[in-house]
Amino acid sequence: MNRTLTAFTLCFFAVVVAISLATTTIQARAATDGIVDPYQAYSYETMLEDATELQRRYPELIRLKTIGTSVEGRNLLLIEFGNGDRRIFLNGATHAREYITTSYLMYMIDQYAHAYANGGIYENFDIKTVLEGVTFAILPMVNPDGVNLVQNGLYSTQDPAAVARIPIHRYDREGYISWKANINGVDLNRNYPANWNVDRAVNAPSSSRFKGYTPLSEPESIAIMRYLNSNMSWAYISFHSQGEGIYGWNDPGEWYSQQLDSMVARIMEESGFRKLTGTSDNNYGTFGDHIRSTFHKPILTIELCEYVGSYPYPDEDFDRVWSPAKTVSLIIAEEVMKMDAMSYWAFQSDYLYRKLSRNLFITMFTLHFLP
Ligand SMILES: [Zn+2]
Repeated sequence: MNRTLTAFTLCFFAVVVAISLATTTIQARAATDGIVDPYQAYSYETMLEDATELQRRYPELIRLKTIGTSVEGRNLLLIEFGNGDRRIFLNGATHAREYITTSYLMYMIDQYAHAYANGGIYENFDIKTVLEGVTFAILPMVNPDGVNLVQNGLYSTQDPAAVARIPIHRYDREGYISWKANINGVDLNRNYPANWNVDRAVNAPSSSRFKGYTPLSEPESIAIMRYLNSNMSWAYISFHSQGEGIYGWNDPGEWYSQQLDSMVARIMEESGFRKLTGTSDNNYGTFGDHIRSTFHKPILTIELCEYVGSYPYPDEDFDRVWSPAKTVSLIIAEEVMKMDAMSYWAFQSDYLYRKLSRNLFITMFTLHFLP
């Protein structure tokens, strides 16, 4: 009797162990079921492959476009994600060594799309409503040539001799892995027209902080402005990687101030990010400053990671980047869906106004001289 009981107990435990092992295996497989692996130095080529695979798996949600080419001729990939009328523009890796922002954006698409296809809920957000209400226009890697230099070194560039002539800024202490500029030595977050001439600290090509010889001198910034001039967006977020905080949080008296305040408060509560002041979003040719003054829409510059010095954030610590910030774009989307449509249409870009008034002039002129 006793022996039978022992045998039964042993069998029972064996079954329990087998079931729990099987469950663990299934869970491990579920965790790695995604397409994007962010725990690596995320390259331009990997981004293209993953984007193609994401589009193939979620054709109803994802469309791929090219909005221009970099100095070295790499296509600037834009991923349209979602089916809503209200566009939200997101970009990453403006600064070469901050390519973990590309990993972040690609992983984000993967996670949200997976949630959309499997029940529609992500961290208490109704992802179906979000992706039917907005479309994210995502440029995951603004500066692919710079990212290539950081990851693969000087001799992976098209013209190593020309790049070698560009001095490394004294703040970028680790050499080419500290590089921030594009491959011409122009800091793409200084190259926009608004207040372009204010910052004069660096007056020649450099690993960072050189604004270019003229505003919009670089193919990467030109491509972005061309795209944005003809693809109006409701909100803009530029992802950078150093400082766990938010720039662009203070726009009082604008038509969108209420939603901006709400975005910032909710992001701070979810992520623990703080309000930043000073560099990055100030008045000297930055993307944020230019967007704010041209389009009159919310523009946040978000520093995703804790500051780790002048080299790339360690890829193996990606969880520490993702975990606090995983719902940032969903918060932005929910607030954008509350924004006032009349005001949105009232504040278009100067570019569109000029185009409109020129066309009006031509029409009036033609009508005047018609018999
Ligand atoms: Zn940056």
